[in-house]
Amino acid sequence: MTRLDDPGARLPVRGFAQGAPEWLAPVLRNCSRCGGTLVYGPVEGEDRKRHRCADCGCVTYVNPRLVVTTLPVTADGRLVLIRRAIPPGIGTWAQPGGFLEADETVVQGAVRETLEETCLVVEPTQIVGIYSRPQAAVVVIAYEAAIVGGEMRPTPESLEVRDFSVEEIPWDGLGFNTTLWAVRDWVRSVRPDLTVDALGEEQVDH
Ligand SMILES: [Zn+2]
Repeated sequence: MTRLDDPGARLPVRGFAQGAPEWLAPVLRNCSRCGGTLVYGPVEGEDRKRHRCADCGCVTYVNPRLVVTTLPVTADGRLVLIRRAIPPGIGTWAQPGGFLEADETVVQGAVRETLEETCLVVEPTQIVGIYSRPQAAVVVIAYEAAIVGGEMRPTPESLEVRDFSVEEIPWDGLGFNTTLWAVRDWVRSVRPDLTVDALGEEQVDH
């Protein structure tokens, strides 16, 4: 058995305070139950410090959100990416995807997001990878997906939608490390002859 790679663990985690990314601080000021002030500190029965309401005692847990994505592949083996029209990463290339809603499964969410961003109807065929990015408080699931309908075109969420051969993949223009990792793992699966040097580099703040 080969040990699974965990690329997120190799990157430094920056911009953390009180156990959470600093950009989450505004939502960790008040209790969502009673509006009281949250205090970060030891809580009985917990093995780490938590944000606890000074008034009602309710603990606000900080957990990553799930991002569901696809790597749509054309019948002739080309990878579809979008150039993002919305933050974060406006203007950069990424796989279609977005936050999972509470009333859908991960596969349904990935298919929905792909349709919203590419106008393509896809069917996930396998998991390419599951990637943690604590700094962004996300876990990204990437599916390889077959295109079964629709027509590739830009949407309010994508400036461009196009397909790339493996040789054309815009490594330097990818907006997120999680995209880099997913695209890299997919390329490794279809082109094991390519070396890691040819497969892009992480950037700490992506
Ligand atoms: Zn409260």
